[in-house]
Amino acid sequence: MATILDGRVLAQNIKSVLQQEVAELKEKTGVVPRLVNVMIGLDHSACAYANSQKKVAENIGINYELTILPSDVTQQELITVIKRLNADPCVDGIMIHKPIPAAIDYRAVANYVDIEKDLEGINVANIGKMILGETRLIPCTPAAVMEHLKSTAIDLKGKEAVIVGHSEIVGKPLSLLLLRELATVTVCHLATSQAGRLVDHVRRAEILVVAVGKASLIKGDWIREGAVVIDVGINRVEDKMVGDVEFDAARKRASFITPVPGGVGPVTVVMLMRNGVEAYKSQRLKKDMY
Ligand code: NAD
Repeated sequence: MATILDGRVLAQNIKSVLQQEVAELKEKTGVVPRLVNVMIGLDHSACAYANSQKKVAENIGINYELTILPSDVTQQELITVIKRLNADPCVDGIMIHKPIPAAIDYRAVANYVDIEKDLEGINVANIGKMILGETRLIPCTPAAVMEHLKSTAIDLKGKEAVIVGHSEIVGKPLSLLLLRELATVTVCHLATSQAGRLVDHVRRAEILVVAVGKASLIKGDWIREGAVVIDVGINRVEDKMVGDVEFDAARKRASFITPVPGGVGPVTVVMLMRNGVEAYKSQRLKKDMY
């Protein structure tokens, strides 16, 4: 029976480290990190998520502000707001809250976020730097997956790691992070399923990360004995939140498994704060103190 990787406990441990670090930085410089979340329109669930981010930030000692723009804001107006935040030396980190209106080209706007303030690691320059291992601002969900893997103390070197889902925010950046640890990485996606090969890849996985958004996509009996299973998926089934993996059946075969909810999600929020602290340090501390 797998050990459950409790994301709330892991998040609390990382939060405690960050709390201590922020307190020390405040003593050194007199100021705490200031992060700004730019949200467009008043979407109910986006607001709820932003409020939970704010709570986590304040708990760590980080100043978190929400800038809400009208839902009919133009791309040019949004870029102007981002440029103003880029130029403000009192702002350490910027994020653009999703969803954003279809009329706005998210990728074009993302590239305006200053690479040193890029909390979500979405600027194409930071994505490129990730390939070279040269940025500390790593997309939050893949970073959370890596923290869960680190908490198992399993050496990833040479392990068969299979990722299901190849999105720009989860699967693709995660493949780079796993490669950095010298895992042997396979990335599966919709076409893998359509070719009827998903089960073959999943059966080989010593490390399995699933980020698709389809409940019960991964059957419990596909899991390799002793595999580590990280379920990133979030699905609503009859008013219950579930992941992409059949949890009860998978748990019988895996060595470690994340639950949904309470697995990757709570750690993802803390990774955003960790990026905020890294952004602050790179901008406010003299390079020789860093
Ligand atoms: P996405 O829609 O951008 O990408 C989905 C991926 O799944 C694609 O690579 C697609 O090819 C693949 N896919 C679709 N159907 C498939 C199938 N039948 N077999 C194999 N692959 C298939 O999704 P995303 O934004 O990466 O999010 C994925 C899931 O992770 C969602 O449920 C999302 O809510 C969740 N998520 C959770 C967190 C968190 O912090 N816990 C963060 C981000 C996303």
